[in-house]
Amino acid sequence: MKIAMIGTGYVGLVSGVCFSDFGHEVVCVDKNPDKIAMLARGEVPIFEPGLEALMARNVEAGRLEFTTDLVQAVEGAEAVFIAVGTPTRRGDGHADLSYVMAAAEEVARAARDYVVIVTKSTVPVGTNRAVRQVVKKANPELEFDVASNPEFLREGAAIDDFMKPDRVVVGVQSTRAADVMADIYRPLYLRDFPIVTTDLESAEMIKYAANAFLATKISFINEIAALCERTGGDVKEVARGIGLDGRIGNKFLHAGPGYGGSCFPKDTRALARIGQEHGLPMQITETVIGVNETVKRRMIDKLLDLCDGTFNGKTVAVLGVTFKPNTDDMREAPSLTIIPALVGAGARVRVCDPQGAREGEALLPGVSWQDDPYKCAGKADLLVILTEWNEFRALDLKRLARRMARPRMADLRNIYSVKDARRAGFEAYDSIGRAPYR
Ligand code: NAD
Repeated sequence: MKIAMIGTGYVGLVSGVCFSDFGHEVVCVDKNPDKIAMLARGEVPIFEPGLEALMARNVEAGRLEFTTDLVQAVEGAEAVFIAVGTPTRRGDGHADLSYVMAAAEEVARAARDYVVIVTKSTVPVGTNRAVRQVVKKANPELEFDVASNPEFLREGAAIDDFMKPDRVVVGVQSTRAADVMADIYRPLYLRDFPIVTTDLESAEMIKYAANAFLATKISFINEIAALCERTGGDVKEVARGIGLDGRIGNKFLHAGPGYGGSCFPKDTRALARIGQEHGLPMQITETVIGVNETVKRRMIDKLLDLCDGTFNGKTVAVLGVTFKPNTDDMREAPSLTIIPALVGAGARVRVCDPQGAREGEALLPGVSWQDDPYKCAGKADLLVILTEWNEFRALDLKRLARRMARPRMADLRNIYSVKDARRAGFEAYDSIGRAPYR
């Protein structure tokens, strides 16, 4: 089957590469010529483990191509996936659908024969019906169906998530479209991965409901963590104690500096907005958004406390700036709230991140970048662990403490413990949802 993939970002590129690995003939399109030039040279514009090798294998096999020419890509394609961004629209929290609609219109003008236009981007309920109207208007003669196929992959584990999904969700309006989607996902059907086939609206809603639910789990445990800091108790133990209950599950119960990334913040905002537009405020989701903001501010208070009430003139070493490990994605990372607050209050900030510099340099003005965590910590007054990269999970704490002007640590991912820090010679250690040590 020939497939066109519009958008070669984190989702479009991974999906396109994986579909080609299923054996389909895939043409990936992006309007950014620099990205396409890199891809054509065999380089991956994002950091995603395993992607470059899988891409090379499928290019070599002649099943995968990259182009800026949407018309050529759509020609003869039985399915065209739209995987462009749906960021928060300025001002009102709604998902900005302008990229999706523009892509749909371009596809409509380019297509000649029956095609299924599949929205992979995360879009509010009703968008696929609106896409249908846009396509009809742009090309009234075209025979086509729309389908909703939201994506659930996680950056950093994207290939595995795509190849071994918990489920695939497909929203369709016709059996013809359902058959095309079944052909596309046949390799997963054959390996017994659940395929949930629904109407368009349910598929669209599933994606927002899933992300809002996961964000709720994170905000919930972050709130319990804050309470543990007042009452005593260790949130790691609490999370384990509740997570072993099969009805709750142990995933997404890691207390930390607040959720970030390209999905949870914008998707919770969009769901809240959808509720408001329908006169049914999503009270839980609205609270989750508020709690997340509070958590980020609470982190700044923690750091301030460890700096004896002032950042002015202090040197702060920050390990990790990406919103989570194994990605270079900086979108809405907690570091983008926390680090500017430090810089703005007069701290000298050094940062170290295995993949964050390329994006982060422009987003974090006034900080200096270091390749090595030990150099980063040299003469610092405070060490902050913000992202739990593997590189930061087994640090030689004694060596770190020795290099610092004042060995103090804010471990915002609960990697280490009071015992570890004390033994290594840190004079103060604070983490999330556990008693600090000073
Ligand atoms: P992204 O910003 O990384 O990539 C989007 C790409 O689309 C860009 O390269 C852009 O140049 C291209 N593009 C935009 N308009 C185009 C057009 N008309 N023609 C060709 N190319 C065009 O976005 P992303 O992170 O891959 O997210 C895409 C969608 O998938 C979003 O709706 C997002 O919510 C959803 N999603 C993302 C993730 C994730 O982890 N990133 C996971 C699940 C779902």
